[in-house]
Amino acid sequence: MPASPLDPATWLATDRELLWHPYTSLVAPTPTRLVTGADGVRLELAGYGWVLDAMSSWWSVIHGYRHPALTRALSEQADDFAHVMFGGLTHRPAIRLAEQLTSLTGLDHVFLADSGSVGVEVALKMARQYQRGTARPERTRLLAFEGGYHGDTLGCMSVTDPVGGMHAIWADALPTQRFAPRPPGPEATEPEVTDWAEAVRREAAAGDVAGIIVEPLLQGAGGMWTYPAERLELLRRVADEHELVLIFDEIATGFGRLGGELFAAQLAGVQPDVMCLGKALTGGTLTMSAVLCTRRVAAGIGASEAGVLMHGPTFMGNPLACAVASANLDLLATGQWRSQVASIGAALESGLAPLRDHPRVAAVRVSGAVGVVQLDHPVDVLAATEAALAAGVWLRPFRDLVYAMPPYPCTPEVIGTITSAMAAAAEAG
Ligand code: PMP
Repeated sequence: MPASPLDPATWLATDRELLWHPYTSLVAPTPTRLVTGADGVRLELAGYGWVLDAMSSWWSVIHGYRHPALTRALSEQADDFAHVMFGGLTHRPAIRLAEQLTSLTGLDHVFLADSGSVGVEVALKMARQYQRGTARPERTRLLAFEGGYHGDTLGCMSVTDPVGGMHAIWADALPTQRFAPRPPGPEATEPEVTDWAEAVRREAAAGDVAGIIVEPLLQGAGGMWTYPAERLELLRRVADEHELVLIFDEIATGFGRLGGELFAAQLAGVQPDVMCLGKALTGGTLTMSAVLCTRRVAAGIGASEAGVLMHGPTFMGNPLACAVASANLDLLATGQWRSQVASIGAALESGLAPLRDHPRVAAVRVSGAVGVVQLDHPVDVLAATEAALAAGVWLRPFRDLVYAMPPYPCTPEVIGTITSAMAAAAEAG
């Protein structure tokens, strides 16, 4: 048992002994830092003091930590009731949230799941069950994209990039899907775009495809890759031609992160048949995802031989998560996020611009409140992280990427500190 809260080294030693962290080994654990506080846009880390959180806790804490409106919603609901099963029962927090989400997205129905990955699993089932309900049971595969990332459960992994998702080591466990190259970026040539469109059309026409799943405008964990709206217009056309279910995984892009509109679908002017939301849905307070779909998709699923959508987790529609998600959407409804994200984007752009000329930097990309520095080599995560911490900022680089997705209340001065830390991390890593 760790000795006392005043002894971080003991706590960390116990952590190393007992706990798995994301993508880590217990044989050779990587360092962790002890969080002793979180407030506004900052984290308190034992041995480092207060640092800026440029990650928004994996892109979820968009309003910052300990936001009074979120905390209030949570404690009021906890006073009321924290959880009830959703099978055969319902409650006002879920109904209110569904009204908000359908009105914001223009989609018709909501499935509330417990995490982003589970939400994607539900979306994959929706596509397959829809096709079964419309008498096309042979359509069992999804068309997905190289460079994509959709979560860590087996179905999600099967539609994640085959190399990044290490499909080879899971060959006998993963369903086989179809893949097209990653959507070409804004600088792609006409022939590159044509080749890509042909690959999409070819795969989509194979006869065994139920739907297309894509992260709209920004591929996140698969490489922080941005691409223009026209690619999504093409996917919408192809989906319509073959009656495929078009799934937008907006778990990373949703709730204003890309600026201008709340969802990438709206920024692109392309409406999907199914949309997955998660991460920032509860302002990063609790785990929950929402899968929205059209009336047509719901009707198809209802006509399948099962007659029902085959999913129902224990913590579906958890009232605490629903209440805090509603409060998050109320905060977004003030519209303040628009100017916040625009100002973060401008500050990221000016702060990162000098890195474009750095000899070991391959590319710099800014999209809304997302700033990415791509190195020309795999980043030394430990060295880069420590360099950023020394500059007062928490970053979590991966592969060849040093990036920031800061909470929306970050001022331009704060973003200036973050971009300096990114430069330090890029230099050290
Ligand atoms: N889809 C996308 C686009 C994501 O970025 C993530 C998480 N990084 C997921 C799905 C999985 O969400 P979760 O980690 O909540 O399971």
